[in-house]
Formats: sequence, C-alpha cells, structure tokens
Amino acid sequence: MRVSPSLLLSLLSFAGGCAHQTAASHASPPELRLYALDCGRIDIHDMGFFADGSHPNGQRGEMPVPCFLIRHPQGTLLWDTGLDDVIAQSPDGLADPIGPRYFVQKTLLAQLAQLGLKPSDVRYVGFSHLHADHAGNANAFTGSTWLLQRKELTWATATPAPLGVDPAKFSTWREAKVEPLDGDRDVFGDGSVRILSTPGHTPGHQSLQVNLPRTGTLVLSGDLCHTRENWEHHGVPGFNTSCEQTLSSINHVETLVKDSKGRFIVQHAPEDFRTLPVFPSYLE
Ligand SMILES: [Zn+2]
Repeated sequence: MRVSPSLLLSLLSFAGGCAHQTAASHASPPELRLYALDCGRIDIHDMGFFADGSHPNGQRGEMPVPCFLIRHPQGTLLWDTGLDDVIAQSPDGLADPIGPRYFVQKTLLAQLAQLGLKPSDVRYVGFSHLHADHAGNANAFTGSTWLLQRKELTWATATPAPLGVDPAKFSTWREAKVEPLDGDRDVFGDGSVRILSTPGHTPGHQSLQVNLPRTGTLVLSGDLCHTRENWEHHGVPGFNTSCEQTLSSINHVETLVKDSKGRFIVQHAPEDFRTLPVFPSYLE
C-alpha cells in the first residue's frame, strides 16, 4: 500500500477524577463521553517544518495521531480517522519518501470493538480535514454521515491531489452520506458538540468543541496548530494553505476557549495527548 507523501505530515490533571473506566459503561445509559483513541504516531525527521514559517532545523520529533470518539445519547461521533489501519501490519512502520515514518500499534477498528462498536454503529464522522493522517480509515465508515466543510471536499478531490492528501483514503466519499457544511454546526442540536469552521491549514479545516458536563469545554484542534508552541505564539507553518486564515481561526478559537474557561487540545502534541485518559477510560 501507499501512503501519500505528505507534509504531515489533556486535560491536565482533571484533578477531579473525571476519567472513568468503562467497566460499567454497557450497563448504564449512554451519557456524553469523550474517548481519546491511539490512531498511530508519526516520527518526524525535522520538526522545523512545523514551526512558524517552516525553517528546517534537523531536530527530530514525534507526533501522536489521536482519534476521538464522542458518545452522545443521540449517537456516536468519531472525530478524525487517524492513520490507515493497514500500517499496523508493518511493525517497523511505513516510511514516507519525504522523511516521516508512520506507525500504527493498535487499529482503530480494534479499539472500537473494545467498546462493542462496529463502524456501522458510528452515526457521524467528523474530519478536521482530509490529510492522510486524519482520513486514513475513512473508507471503513461509508455507512456514517460525514461532516465535512464543502470547501474541504472541493479542495481535496481536485486533480492533481494537493500535497498531503491521498484520495484513495476517502475514495468512498460518493457512497457515504456526506453533509457538506458551510461554517459551524451544532451536531446534536443541544450545544454539546459543535464543529467550528477553522480554515487556514486547509481551505475547509475544522475543529471540534465538546462541552462535557463534568470536565467542561474542550476544543480539539485538528491541525489548527501542530504544536503547543504554535498555539501559544500563533505560529503558522509555511505549508498551510492560508496564513491569514490560520491566524484568524486561532484568534477565534482562543477567544472561545478563554470565554468558556475551556481547554485546547493540540492533537499532534505529545504533552497534550498524555494528559488525556488512556483508552478505554474516558472524560465525561
Ligand atoms: Zn494536516
């Protein structure tokens, strides 16, 4: 198989003990829960590419590739589909010709199965964007409704495919129920899970706001920022499709996070991933 060359590419101590084991989860009615799944990792040959303006510095790094599962009384939403599960068959990982190496230790489908879920049980799949490390298993979810910005689909299905996009990863999009969005979306209509339009990394990039009853507000970055440093200092890597849109999106989300006293999770930041409960524990 081929992984397209790509530029690829919390909650801190919820000291209140908001992480719970799933032992009782099958017995109780589903409430709002957020699980962080390990959907692979990327060994980065040069972290400088992700710094403000992208200045290669030869410094190696590692980025987690999480997926998130949100269980809501009205259905389940999967946020991002990670690296392709097929990479799990290569214990030494898969090298990208331009430098990074991709690893998958545990497949997304195996993690869903741990919760007793099949792909067809997933009502919605939200893609932060269609880069290959966020859309790797999209084709497993053709029975789900895909929540995508209209602009993202137009951009990612263009010929030739943009850098970082592997159209084979989401080739079944015509069979899936794609709901093209033109901005924010309150997924379940009760304000608990909101897709936020945050263009700039790609033209139809989006982030996800989740308002958990006990934990509070979390915003899942997608690739709005790849590192905490970029979040804190408003750094924009040179490969984003629009620097101006990225900065505007960061400002918008920063205000939202402040106003809600929430927390921003940089999906590719190891320090953020480490603060999330280890699957199958969850936040609520
Ligand atoms: Zn990306």
